[in-house]
Amino acid sequence: MFWPKAQQVIDQALLAGTLLPISTEPKALREEGVDYILHKITTNSTVKFSPKPAEFNPFLPYDSSMYVSDAGSDHVCLLNKFPVFSPHLLICSKTFVKQTTALTQQDFDAWLMGFDDDDVFGFYNGGKTAGASQPHRHMQLVKAELPLAEVISQGKLPFTHRLFHYQQLDPQTLLQDYKTAMLDMGLFDEYECKAYNVLLTSRWMMILPRSANKKDGIFANAINYSGHFLVKNEEQMEQLSEHGVMQFLKDCAIAT
Ligand code: AMP
Repeated sequence: MFWPKAQQVIDQALLAGTLLPISTEPKALREEGVDYILHKITTNSTVKFSPKPAEFNPFLPYDSSMYVSDAGSDHVCLLNKFPVFSPHLLICSKTFVKQTTALTQQDFDAWLMGFDDDDVFGFYNGGKTAGASQPHRHMQLVKAELPLAEVISQGKLPFTHRLFHYQQLDPQTLLQDYKTAMLDMGLFDEYECKAYNVLLTSRWMMILPRSANKKDGIFANAINYSGHFLVKNEEQMEQLSEHGVMQFLKDCAIAT
């Protein structure tokens, strides 16, 4: 339900100069039959990240030109101001909730409002070590092909994770499975869960613990575990290719 409105908001925000896409070019990197997609930042990318004070919360208050819609009574749907994928939506809590506390039924209800098509990909970066840059609760949504979809859905990833298959997404079932996985992998804590990612499609949910958010200067959040990488230059592409993409993912996850 957010996507048509999001496109209108994108058009307006681009005209107003408030949406600042990170310009990239896609490069394929084949490994073990998987065509990973590397998004190489182009030299003419206009985004300049200026340091913000530590207490600055971009979601409270949010930039009104990023507003797409309410998402139930407790969340808003915003555009990601610095997108690589477009549209890139954020489902943010209206009040401050720590990103590292466990997801709730309301979070899943709001998140699922964005799943109106088979190509919707949801992800969650649970804490800094899992790739989160913001401490305020936000689930994320993009529409993208996932290079690792087959490997994931066949349960073939070589690091600790839990995978649940679905015919259709039901928020109560998702919450139950999420809790089971979090407890089972020792990630749950009432105040501050250990670092983890959630990857959610219309057919499955995967939850994995994380040990690091970067390796050799290459950053990894939940998106990387779908097979997409953001790289700064040719050197980082070569680095990944030499090190091995799956090895990189293993290094930032937890051994089985
Ligand atoms: P994460 O880095 O996974 O915690 O996701 C937070 C996202 O918020 C990042 O991808 C940023 O690009 C995005 N972001 C940062 N500042 C703003 C803002 N003022 N409005 C909307 N999105 C933002």
